[in-house]
Amino acid sequence: MGPPSSSGFYMSRAVALLLAGLAAALLLALTVLAALYGHCARVAPSELQDCGVPDAAPSPPGEQDQSPPTRKPDPALEPTVAATPDSWRPPGPWDQMRLPPWLVPLHYELELWPQLRPDELSAPALRFTGRVNITVRCTAASARLLLHSFLLDCDSAEVRGPLSPGTGDATVGRVPVDDMWFALDMQYMVLELREALQPGSLYELQLNFSGPLYQDTREGLFLNVYTDQGERRVLLASQMEPTFARNVFPCFDEPALKATFNITVIHHPSYVALSNMPKLGQSEKEDVNGSKWTITTFYTTPRMSTYLVSFAICDYDHVSRTERGKEIRIWARKDAIANGNADFALNITGPIFSFLEDLLNISYPLPKTDIIALPVFDNRAMENWGLMIFDESLLLLQPDDQLTEKKMVISYLVSHEIGHQWFGNLVTMSWWNNIWLNEGFASYFEFGVINYLYPKLPRNEIFFSNILHDVLKKDHVLVSRAVSTKLENFTETNEINELFDLFTYNKGASMARMLASFLNENLFISALKSYLETFAYSNAEQDDLWRHFQMAIDDQSEIVLPATVKSIMDSWTHQSGFPVITLNVSTGVMKQEPFYLGKVKNQTLLAHNDTWIVPIFWIKNGTTQSLVWLDKSSKVFPEMQVSDSDHDWVILNLNITGYYRVNYDKLGWKKLNQQLEKDPKAIPAIHRLQLIDDAFSLSKNNYIEIETALDLTKYLAEEDEIIVWHAVLVNLVTRDLVYDVNNYDIYPLLKKYLLKRLISIWNIYSTIIRENVAALQDDYLVLISLEKLFEAACLLGLEDCLQLSRELFKNWTNHPENEILYPISTVVLCYGIALGSNKEWDLLLNIYMNNTNEEERIQLAYAMSCSKDPWILHRYMEYAVTMSPSIFNERNIIEDVAESEVGRYIAKDFLINNWQAVWTTIIGDSHVYNRENCKYRFTDHGAAAVFQCHVGGTPEAYNSSQITDSEERKSEKQKPKCQDSCMAMEKHIILCPLSVLPLHIRM
Ligand SMILES: [Zn+2]
Repeated sequence: MGPPSSSGFYMSRAVALLLAGLAAALLLALTVLAALYGHCARVAPSELQDCGVPDAAPSPPGEQDQSPPTRKPDPALEPTVAATPDSWRPPGPWDQMRLPPWLVPLHYELELWPQLRPDELSAPALRFTGRVNITVRCTAASARLLLHSFLLDCDSAEVRGPLSPGTGDATVGRVPVDDMWFALDMQYMVLELREALQPGSLYELQLNFSGPLYQDTREGLFLNVYTDQGERRVLLASQMEPTFARNVFPCFDEPALKATFNITVIHHPSYVALSNMPKLGQSEKEDVNGSKWTITTFYTTPRMSTYLVSFAICDYDHVSRTERGKEIRIWARKDAIANGNADFALNITGPIFSFLEDLLNISYPLPKTDIIALPVFDNRAMENWGLMIFDESLLLLQPDDQLTEKKMVISYLVSHEIGHQWFGNLVTMSWWNNIWLNEGFASYFEFGVINYLYPKLPRNEIFFSNILHDVLKKDHVLVSRAVSTKLENFTETNEINELFDLFTYNKGASMARMLASFLNENLFISALKSYLETFAYSNAEQDDLWRHFQMAIDDQSEIVLPATVKSIMDSWTHQSGFPVITLNVSTGVMKQEPFYLGKVKNQTLLAHNDTWIVPIFWIKNGTTQSLVWLDKSSKVFPEMQVSDSDHDWVILNLNITGYYRVNYDKLGWKKLNQQLEKDPKAIPAIHRLQLIDDAFSLSKNNYIEIETALDLTKYLAEEDEIIVWHAVLVNLVTRDLVYDVNNYDIYPLLKKYLLKRLISIWNIYSTIIRENVAALQDDYLVLISLEKLFEAACLLGLEDCLQLSRELFKNWTNHPENEILYPISTVVLCYGIALGSNKEWDLLLNIYMNNTNEEERIQLAYAMSCSKDPWILHRYMEYAVTMSPSIFNERNIIEDVAESEVGRYIAKDFLINNWQAVWTTIIGDSHVYNRENCKYRFTDHGAAAVFQCHVGGTPEAYNSSQITDSEERKSEKQKPKCQDSCMAMEKHIILCPLSVLPLHIRM
C-alpha cells in the first residue's frame, strides 16, 4: 500500500484501488449505481434522508446501530460507496472529536518492527511495520468501528469474535470487514462490518499496518542521529502524548480508554530495545533477505492510557542502581556514561521515588524504571510509565557543571516526571480538559521533593521565582484561560497540544499549593492518597478530586471551611484570572475585584461579575494571624484596622500561598513603607519580594500610582537579599527605559536614585566574584538573580561593573579554560565587546567559528551585536547576510543589533539598503522568529512584512491587544490589530523604528 492520502477526508481502500484502473465513464456509471443502491457518498446533504444515510449521532448504547442498512454484500458494488479523496462524505460519528462509546479496549498485543539498521543512518524514508490485536468489549450493537489511526497504512483488518473464554481459536468466528477507510481530518480509521457486533461480547480487532519513521519531528516514532565514540549513530524513540500513539499503531487513543499492553519489538541484534515493562524474553528471526533480527518481548503492562506507551531502540550504555528492590537504569550515549554524566541523575532518582512513595504511602507499581537521555527531544522530558524520556541536556551533568543551577534544573525535572508516576500514570484525567490534574500536581510536588533534597533552600521564594512570578504576570480575567477548560471548548485535536501551557503547569501548581495551605499538609496528603487509591489504574475528573478533599474535611472538625471544597476551588479553576484584594487598614474593609491588564475605569462592569472564595492568611507586625475568608465582594475585618498613630502594619497573603495580588489603602502602604525604612528585616524577605512585585504590577496596570511602588524602593540601600533586588530591577531597569530617548528627563534621575541604593548589594557580589566565585556555586537564588543585578549595574553605567566586565573578559580571552561564571557570562561577553575594539570583536568571531556548542554559540553571536562601533555592527550584519545561513543561524543578528541605542539606526539603514538580501538569506519564506520581543512574520507576498509587536520585556501591551498565542495561531486576521498596538505603543518599543519600516517598502 502507498502512503495514505493527505488531501481528503473520505478514502476507501477498495475504491482507491479500483479508481486506479477505471475510466471516467465507468466511474460515472458506478456513481449512478451507488445512488441507486443508497450509498450516498456523492449526494448533497439535502438529499440524505431519501438515501437512507444513517443519522450522524452515535448509536445509544444498547440500540441497534443505524449504519447503512442498505449496504450490499456484493463486493463488486462496494467501490461505489466511495469517492475520490476530495469528495464529500456522509455525516457520521467520524465528525466528532471523541470516539463513539460502542467499543471499550481491554488489551493490546502490539508488535512493532522498525526497519532500522545501525549502518543505515541516511537511508531515506525509513519505515516501520506493525501488527496489533486489540481485545475490545462491545457495549452497543454497531456494524461500524472507529478507532484512531493517523498517517498509517493499514494493510489488513479482521475482526474475530465473539470471543468465548476457554474455547480455542478454531471455534471463534469472524465478522467480515466490508470496507476500511480513513477520516483523515479527525484521525480515525473506520471499519464497516457486514454485521453488527453484539453488546456484551468480546472481539479481537487484528490489524497490520506500517508507517514512516520521522527525523524532523518528535511525534510518534522518531529517529535521533547523533555522534558517540567518534561515530555517527542513530536511535529510535517515541513520544505519544498527547495524541501521537495513533501515529504508531491503530488504537483507541483517549486517556480514559485504558488497557493492558503486551509489547513486542523487532530490532537489529546490535540494538537494545526498551519499553514500559521489563524484558520478558528474546528470540531471533530472519527476514526475506536472510538478515537476522532480534525479537524482544516485554511483560504485560498495568492498565494504562495509550499516551504512556513508550519505546526506545538504541545502542546506548547505562548506569543502574536498585531502590527498594526495583532496578533504576539511566541510558545515555556511551561517551556520556563513561564520563559519569548520568551519575547525578541516577543518584537522585531512587531517593525521589522513595520520598514520594513514603509521602503518598502508595508504592510505585512497576517493577523497574528506565530513563533515557536523547540527544534531541523537543518535549524536555516525558513521564512514560517505566520508560521516561529526557532531553540529555536536562538530565546529564557535565563534569564541569558544578553549578547548583544545572543540578537544580535536573532535580526539578526528574522530580516532576517521577511525580507523574502517580499523578497521570496511576490516576489519569478523564479527558485533556483536566490535564492540570497531571501537570499541576506533578509541578507542585517538585517543590516538596526539592525541599527534601535541598532543605536549606527557601521554598517560598523558590516557588515564587519559578512558578508564581511568570504566571501572575500573564494571567488576567479577559484573555487567559481557566485552568480547567470546558469540554465543549474542544473542537480540534491540535487544541489539545495548546493546553500544555503556563496555566496548566504554573497555575495548576499554584492551585494545589493554595489548597494545601488552607487545609493542612496532613489533610492534604491523606485526601490525595484516598483519591489516588480510589482511581488507581483508572481515570478521574476534577470533581472526583474535590470530593476526596471534602470527605477528608467532613471527617474532622479542626478545619472549617466557608463553603465546600468544590465551591471554593471551582471559583479558581473554572474562571480565568485572579482577584486583586484591597485592604483599607483604616476601616478594616477588604474587597476583591478581578485583575485586568491595563485596567481602565469601570472596566469591571464590562466583563466580570464573579468573585473568588479567597483564603487570607495574614500577618500583623510580623505575627501570623488566623486564617480568614473573603467569600464575597467585600467584608469588614476589624482586627485588621491600624491607626496612623500606632506602629502596626499588616500584610495579606502570608508566604504568597494565595493566588492573588494585594493592594492597600494609602495608610496601609504608608505603614509598610515606614517599617521598611525603619527596619526592613522585620518584614520577611518573601514579603519584601511580594510588596515590590505586587506594587509594580498594580501600578503598571493602573490600580495604584507609580509613586506608591517607588516609595517602596526608598529603603533599598538596606536590602541585601538579591532575590528582592531582582524583583526591583526587572521592573525598573529595562532596555527600553535606558535606550528610549523620550525618557531623557526621568532616566538620569532614576539612574542616580538606583545607583545610590544598588551600590551596597553590588559591592557584596562583585567582591565575591572577584575573590571567591566558588562561594556562589551552591546558592541557587543568587545564581538565578545575579545576571539581572550584573546587567542592570552595567546598563546603568556603574563604573565598577564595567571594570569587572573588562577584567573577566580579558581573563577569559587570555585563559579560555577559566570559564566565566555561567549566570553572568552573557553580560560579561557583551560588555567585553561593547567596551573593546575590533581586536576583541575579531577574537570573539574566531572563537565563535570554532565553537560547536549551540548554547555557547548563541551567547557569542549575541555578544558580537553589543559593539558600539557602527562599522563593526554594519560588517556583522553583512557577514550574517552574505555568509552561509548556517553560520549565523542561532540568532537573528539584525534584531540583536537593533536592540541597542547605536544599533537600532544602523540596523534600520541596513535593512532598507539590503532588503532583498535579508529577505532571501536570513528570512527565507514565511518564518517567524523572536517570540519574546518584536515578533514578525514575513509573508511571501513580496513586500509585505506583517509585524507583531509587544512592549519589549513586558507582555502586557501585547496582551492588551487581545491576542494570545493560541488565538494568534488560529487567526491570521488578528495581526493588523497587533500592528496597531505596536504603533500605539511606539515609544515603548525598542524595535519600533524597525517594526514600521517594511510598511513603507514595496518591493
Ligand atoms: Zn509533566
